[in-house]
Amino acid sequence: MPGEVKDECGVAAVYLPRPLKEYPFGGAAYYLCKMLVQMQNRGQVSAGITTFNPQRQQLIDTYKKRGMVSEVFATRIEGKARAILQRYAGNKGIGHVRYTTSGGDDEGSAQPFERHHGRKWKWFSFGFNGNIANFSELKKDLEDRQYHLVRNLDTEMIMHFLEKEQLGDKKKPMDKIFKNISNIFDGAYNMSYINAEGTVAAMRDPLGIRPMSYLISDDFVGAASETVALNKFAENGVKTMEPGEMLLVENDSVEVKRYAKSKKKAHCMFEWVYFANAASMIDERSVYQTRWRLGEELARQEYLKVNSDDWVVVPVPDTAKPAADAYAHTIGLPSMEGLIRNRYVGRTFIEGGDRMEKIREKFNLNKSVIKDKKVILVDDSIVRGNTSKALVEFLRKYGKVKELHMRVTCPPIRSPCFYGIDMSTIGELIANRHSSKEQLNRVGFLDLEQDAVDSIGKNIGVDSLRYMTLEGLVKSIGLDGGKKDLCLACLTGEYPTQWGETLRVKALERFERGLETTRTYE
Ligand code: SF4
Repeated sequence: MPGEVKDECGVAAVYLPRPLKEYPFGGAAYYLCKMLVQMQNRGQVSAGITTFNPQRQQLIDTYKKRGMVSEVFATRIEGKARAILQRYAGNKGIGHVRYTTSGGDDEGSAQPFERHHGRKWKWFSFGFNGNIANFSELKKDLEDRQYHLVRNLDTEMIMHFLEKEQLGDKKKPMDKIFKNISNIFDGAYNMSYINAEGTVAAMRDPLGIRPMSYLISDDFVGAASETVALNKFAENGVKTMEPGEMLLVENDSVEVKRYAKSKKKAHCMFEWVYFANAASMIDERSVYQTRWRLGEELARQEYLKVNSDDWVVVPVPDTAKPAADAYAHTIGLPSMEGLIRNRYVGRTFIEGGDRMEKIREKFNLNKSVIKDKKVILVDDSIVRGNTSKALVEFLRKYGKVKELHMRVTCPPIRSPCFYGIDMSTIGELIANRHSSKEQLNRVGFLDLEQDAVDSIGKNIGVDSLRYMTLEGLVKSIGLDGGKKDLCLACLTGEYPTQWGETLRVKALERFERGLETTRTYE
């Protein structure tokens, strides 16, 4: 559901093997900007790059700002964009788009995070995608050693641990550095990294919670959170970075190597359901095709008799469109755009605080499709339920629909995410507000009882509500290892890491004692 959950950062890295003059202006800066535009879906709060250029006094230099990529790089103003990219021209670089799951929205919290040092291999910059679940423990460890976190950010903490790995006179190999931090960190932590010697690295954490891919060709080497950011640089050759692997560019040699064992995989199911660009491949599975299969699966689970002309299927744009089309196709109904998303709103401060006003700003009603119809609204997920409720009210009040039914491609979300997705308390989740205490404490691969689902549907204001089953979700993603290769923690309460489980217990205690605030990371 647009507006309910925010995306959670994207990272990129580039190495251009040929002389800089053979590439468009800015070289790596130019390519990074293009890649970040493709990953804008992963974060709209800020964007930034760090590039390396041995001809520059400032060997690595970072440019970052609040705003969309097009605003940060002024891509619509040719002279300005050219000046920015030329100022940061280089053959190597890393990039980042950010949404805040922890810490502030200010420019200083934007990434990449650069840490200056007089020695070249200790002067580095990095971008991060994920969330460190044992942040509170590691923060305490730093504070005990007289560190002070200015921004209280996990990124800042990672910076100190990277720095600690490079103490002393002896340079440590990059794979050793990543291996050591992977023994300390619990959670999701994909990274892109660069230092003032010109070493570039991109790594995927050993569980592979967040996606990462790479491309190695004769004139372009890159890594990115999503394949869409790399596809335009080569017809073929974009590959999945396996959990525990890294792409390393050092002294102009390029290799993909394992830095840590991956004892198990825990790919975030939400990447396929909602976050990732529909044109991306994640772990060799197409996001679009997965969403299509989810729609087919919803149709198979349908109990309504929908064989008259007054039924229509309407997707909540944009993420639910493939599923709505597949659902409609399977069931024999038209899938029509009853809601048209305004693509030009972007981030705005003029939309007003009222949720209904936000909905009216984001969507236009297409009454020609929905008036006097029995509408089946297909959405990707319901998290807190506030946006769904406002959307349903909008459709009923202004769309004059006859009936309104809702079908959701993600099973009910019942547990917080401690791995970088913005849903961090038990009480904020609508599925929990309509569950008994016994249901709330239940952990495991179980679907929510129908009475709880009906109660949520009533609260949202629809005539009927159905969620995807857990089995249906796992089948639609279709990984070889099935559910054992997925993180499904926000659906089942079973966390793939020790600190995920620790934070779940803490969150439940806080919820039961009425002490929940908006964050349970600490
Ligand atoms: S808890 Fe949910 S949203 Fe978070 S990583 Fe796991 S599957 Fe993804």
